[in-house]
Amino acid sequence: MGLVQPYFFKANAYMAHSHNQIQREVWGAITAHLQHSLKGKIIARGTDEIFFSAKKLHQLLEREEMSVVGFLDYLKDISLVWRFTQLLQKLNEMFDIIRRNSTNFRGSRKPKNSGPVIIEIDYGPGKIYEVNSVFGVVHALSFKAMRHDSPLGEYIVILYLLRRLVARFNSHLSQKGVKKSHISTSIGLLASFAGAGNQLYSRGVIGFSLTGTGKRRQNIIKQRKRNLPQLNQVQDHGLAWSPGNCAESETFACYKNMYESLKKRCGQFKIFTVSLTLSISQGFPIPFCAQCFQLARIIETESRHVIIDLASQS
Ligand SMILES: [Zn+2]
Repeated sequence: MGLVQPYFFKANAYMAHSHNQIQREVWGAITAHLQHSLKGKIIARGTDEIFFSAKKLHQLLEREEMSVVGFLDYLKDISLVWRFTQLLQKLNEMFDIIRRNSTNFRGSRKPKNSGPVIIEIDYGPGKIYEVNSVFGVVHALSFKAMRHDSPLGEYIVILYLLRRLVARFNSHLSQKGVKKSHISTSIGLLASFAGAGNQLYSRGVIGFSLTGTGKRRQNIIKQRKRNLPQLNQVQDHGLAWSPGNCAESETFACYKNMYESLKKRCGQFKIFTVSLTLSISQGFPIPFCAQCFQLARIIETESRHVIIDLASQS
C-alpha cells in the first residue's frame, strides 16, 4: 500500500510524539489499526451496495470512457439505497450535461439548473445542507456511505479513487463548456478514530471546495457558517479565498456528529481525527491554508481532541 504508507508514518509519528497524553491502551489500538491498514487488510464487509466500495470505485475507473456515466449511475444507486431520492434530480441534471452535444451547448441554450436540493444531514439540530452540484451529492452521500469502523487506509484509498473519478467528471464538464467556477478543485477527507479494548471505531466523510459564482457562492458560505459556526471565528488571512471556501469547511461540519457518535459508542476514550485534502486535477495533497489551520485549532480546543493534517509538510 504505497499510497497509504506516508500518511500512516505521519499519523504514527504524531501519536508516538504525543502518546504521553494519550491512554496507552488507546494509542496501541490505534497504531495496530493503522498497521492493519498498511498491510492492505481492506476487506469488503457486508453488502457493498450500501457503502462506497474501493473495489467498485476501482472497477469504475477501469471503464475509461464510460467511467463518468458509470460514476453517476453508481451515485444514483447509492442514493436509492439510502432513500435520498432528492439527489436523483441533481444527478439527472448532470447526466443531461454530460450527454449534451457540446457544439449545441455553446449556443444560447444553457443547462437547466433547478436550484439547490435541500437535504437533511445530521450536522445538528436545525441544520440543513443544500446540494448544488454533483460534488454536494458526493458529500451528502459520504455522510452515510463511508463505512463505519473502516481502517484509515481504506478511507484514504476511497478518497484517492473518488478524486480520480471526480477529475474525469470535471474534465467532461469543461469539455461541455461548464464554467471553471462551477468545478470544484479540491476534495477532502475527515476521519475520526477511537478505540476501546481491541475494538476500534471510526467514521469518515468527504467534502469539496466551494463552487458557484457571485451570490450563490456567498449563500453557500453563509450556509457553511450555519452548519459550522466556528467558521465565524476564523479571520480572513488575506488569501485569495474567504474562510468557508475550502473542502475542510464542508467536512469539519460533520466533526461534531462523528465525534459524538464515536464517544457514545466507546465512552471516555480519546478520539483522533485526521484530515487529508487533495487537488482534484493533480492528486497532490494540499496542506491546511492559514484559515483551515485556525479552524482546526478552534475545533481542537473546543473538543479537546487532536486533529492531524496528513497533508502538512511538518
Ligand atoms: Zn483552507
